[in-house]
Amino acid sequence: MKDNYGRRIDYLRISLTDRCNLRCIYCMPEEGVPFRAHDSILRIEEIVAFTQRAAKAGIHKIRLTGGEPLVRKGVVDLIREIRKIPEIEDISLTTNAILLPKMAGVLRDAGLTRVNISLDTLDPVQFTYITRMGKIEDVFAGIQAALDYGFDPVKINAVAVRSLDQDFFAFAKLSLEKPLHVRFIEYMPVGKSTGGTGAGWTEADIIPANEIIEAINRDARKEGIGALEPVTEGGLPAGSGPAIYYSFPEAQGTVGFISAMSNHFCSSCNRLRLTADGKIRPCLFSDEEIDVMAAIRSGSQEAVDLAIQQAIGIKPDEHHEERSTVRRMSQIGG
Ligand code: SAM
Ligand code: SF4
Repeated sequence: MKDNYGRRIDYLRISLTDRCNLRCIYCMPEEGVPFRAHDSILRIEEIVAFTQRAAKAGIHKIRLTGGEPLVRKGVVDLIREIRKIPEIEDISLTTNAILLPKMAGVLRDAGLTRVNISLDTLDPVQFTYITRMGKIEDVFAGIQAALDYGFDPVKINAVAVRSLDQDFFAFAKLSLEKPLHVRFIEYMPVGKSTGGTGAGWTEADIIPANEIIEAINRDARKEGIGALEPVTEGGLPAGSGPAIYYSFPEAQGTVGFISAMSNHFCSSCNRLRLTADGKIRPCLFSDEEIDVMAAIRSGSQEAVDLAIQQAIGIKPDEHHEERSTVRRMSQIGG
């Protein structure tokens, strides 16, 4: 399935809910999201039905996200059902890891093999500031649970925000002793400010990858650790997508950079998004969406197929303007 610009679309990110057990300052308002009637959210079996049609249209890779996907009832059943779709070769999940100590085993049994864990700081006080309510020990326990249950790769995604003044070297060091793949994500203009330092996107908050690499190497030198080196094809973690990877000599994991703002990778964008309220969103940065809820509920496969084709048809060639979107990241599925 190719779009109007010749890009093969084979990746679907599914947002299971816009609710969350944290309230990150750049993602959620302090009071959480307004209550939604059950009916306005796709049921698990409806998500499965959509995914089956998307698979027929050429989708081979699925990522479950949110909001926090692990707070959604039925997430384990959903994984089990998606595993049965023959065209789907890869299924992964993005989580804040708070519920992983409890759920890692059942998720693994259901057929999930890899996870991305979001963590923006290793400092307990800063973590509680960013998430407004989280305890960092819970995330550390979630990371350990992911390793103990054999998820591979385990990636740690940190949004780099200049005004948060994060310790990048401390993060990069996570990749030394354990098979953890740390990735620094550029802060993106999605949603609106929810208050606090670092909460509202400004261009000044973007930190170019080179600057982070230099800071890491400078601190590494002080501790007698060799500089980051580019990772070659064979050493890349599965699902490496648009990230560029490096590693310390002898490290078990890697350090990656995803630079959506300073280094547009739109020309190789292969993805669609399905929101929890049944909209197909062809571009993270554009509020143009195709409503597929009614088509799914009508039971008409043709209507769902048509909506998928329409969504691919309006996928923009690239994101031109750096401006905020109406939906917050938690409502799109980051
Ligand atoms: N709750 C899950 C989690 O935090 O991993 C999944 C959903 S969350 C919206 C997905 C990812 O989007 C997180 O890594 C989060 O840090 C990231 N994110 C949210 N807002 C962002 C922004 N404006 N720029 C870059 N990344 C953002
Ligand atoms: Fe929740 Fe993830 Fe958004 Fe944080 S980034 S508020 S954990 S959805």
